[in-house]
Amino acid sequence: MNNLPIVDTFGRVHSSLRVSVTDRCNIRCFYCMPELVKFLPQRDVLSFEEIVRVVRVLASLGVDRIRITGGEPLVRAELWTLISMIRSIEGVLEVALTTNGLLLAEQAEKLKLAGLDRLNISLDTVNPVVFQRITRRQGLEKVLAGIAAAKEVGFENIRLNAVSISGISETEIVPLAKFARQQNLELRFIEFMPLDGDEAWQSQQVLSGTSVRKLIENEVGSLVSAERFVPSQPAVDYHYSDGIGSVGFVNSVTEPFCHACDRMRITAEGKFRNCLFSSVEWDVREALRSGATNGEIENLIRECVTAKKRGHGTNDGEFLRPAKAMYQIGG
Ligand code: SAM
Ligand code: SF4
Repeated sequence: MNNLPIVDTFGRVHSSLRVSVTDRCNIRCFYCMPELVKFLPQRDVLSFEEIVRVVRVLASLGVDRIRITGGEPLVRAELWTLISMIRSIEGVLEVALTTNGLLLAEQAEKLKLAGLDRLNISLDTVNPVVFQRITRRQGLEKVLAGIAAAKEVGFENIRLNAVSISGISETEIVPLAKFARQQNLELRFIEFMPLDGDEAWQSQQVLSGTSVRKLIENEVGSLVSAERFVPSQPAVDYHYSDGIGSVGFVNSVTEPFCHACDRMRITAEGKFRNCLFSSVEWDVREALRSGATNGEIENLIRECVTAKKRGHGTNDGEFLRPAKAMYQIGG
């Protein structure tokens, strides 16, 4: 191991890792997963110990921010144990979690005690009918209870993530923005990306961050650009001019932010990826299970990052969608 940072051929230093802990989920958002889905067998999914080994190698190379995702991470048994294992790795400064919130009410306290630093909760609407239309399941009440529980146990700066979809979100944005302001939650809108399990995405379904911002400015309150503290952050953030609350926009399709990307990903089955939209993966599980040394794992990771392209190209004509959907990669 040479302990040098992980840098790609465009000079981007990679210091953040998204770890998918499962491809399973308790709902079926149409933009992510098909209704009928065959999940990975348990033996193919990395164990907590295997994940920790990979994170240790990466932490020694300067990766200091870890986000746990999935599938729905909270369906993985005793996820809090993994959080606490990762939080105690030398060099890891932040462990964050992205969740749909359905199981949060029952797990919030354990997650907090395990040392989880940040929580993103995905919520596209506060209307139960639209929630069911998007997720093909019921559960809005549980998500709201999860948000309340997370606040109760002391999570701060909780962020709501909302996917904006043309033809669905226009009526949902203003009530959601008002709810977020009322509840003192940050809110981020993410453009609908071509990673749906049904492979039905069409560019006309992308409701741009610019359109969402206009709607909010017209009906909720005027917005002022926020200072950018972390250059690699994908969102463009705004504050309401009355000082109450903030809204961010991840315009991944209309304004890709690849030039500042510092992220790597590992899927639940232990495939290493240099981009959400990558069509190639590096098999870390195979390396882990065939007795690879830490140096060999490092080499595999460096090879993966070296192969990273300049951009994901979703907004150019040549774009080819990856073979995997969002739930199989880890959002
Ligand atoms: N199940 C968890 C959740 O929903 O928060 C974590 C995994 S989910 C794949 C991570 C994030 O990806 C969620 O905020 C979800 O809304 C977002 N997402 C899923 N499919 C997407 C798509 N096609 N375009 C944009 N965002 C998407
Ligand atoms: Fe499940 Fe999250 Fe995908 Fe929705 S976005 S189906 S909650 S993994």
